[in-house]
Amino acid sequence: MKYIAPLLLVFAFIFTACSDEGGDVVPRSEWSNVEPDVKTLARKPNGKIRYISIHQSETPFPDTVDAVRRLRGIQNWHQNNPGGPKWGDIAYHYLIGPEAKIYEGRSVKYAASSGTIYLTQAQWEAVALNDKGQTTASKPAGIEKPGASEGHLTISVLGTFHRELPSDETRRVLTKFVAQKLKEHDLSVDDVYFHREIACWTDCPGQALYDWFRGKSREHGARGTGMNWIADELDKLR
Ligand SMILES: [Zn+2]
Repeated sequence: MKYIAPLLLVFAFIFTACSDEGGDVVPRSEWSNVEPDVKTLARKPNGKIRYISIHQSETPFPDTVDAVRRLRGIQNWHQNNPGGPKWGDIAYHYLIGPEAKIYEGRSVKYAASSGTIYLTQAQWEAVALNDKGQTTASKPAGIEKPGASEGHLTISVLGTFHRELPSDETRRVLTKFVAQKLKEHDLSVDDVYFHREIACWTDCPGQALYDWFRGKSREHGARGTGMNWIADELDKLR
């Protein structure tokens, strides 16, 4: 009996240590009841992760359905719906729900999908952003087909954030998770982008959320509150 108390302490410590890590990810197998179409996914390997891009799912916010039902709906549209784009799996690598839980999406081995046209790295480095932080060129020369999205790790926030922000807790968990992924892939805060900065025809991830991250100057590299939160979390990990 005398060993039970210390043993409990050890368990308590392990439990606390695990929960303190944060960023626990719900595996894809736990929320999805559909297998990915690997043949379709394998056409676009992701290669080395060079940057993280942040998105919104453009679903209702606040939402009347729970996150798992919402994720299944998005996945069905992206993967199986007869009128949908047939992308082989949900478009994003990770998604974060309104209850601040992170869900695994498609495997990071495969490039993200998008209905928008991504610029190549050389193009988005050359193109200026407008006063909303969007690429100014609507369709730069040389862009023929959608999805130069290789090398991204995409994270989508469930909801639509043109005027509203995700909860404080969701933003805390999101910024911590972004920092963890930056460290994991040996990247810096400057390797974080927002969909509107690197693709044409999109205001993703919503003006309010974008401004919270970038602040008023609305340009790549600018640090508003959200980017500072990521930088602080990254400092803690180093
Ligand atoms: Zn997006």
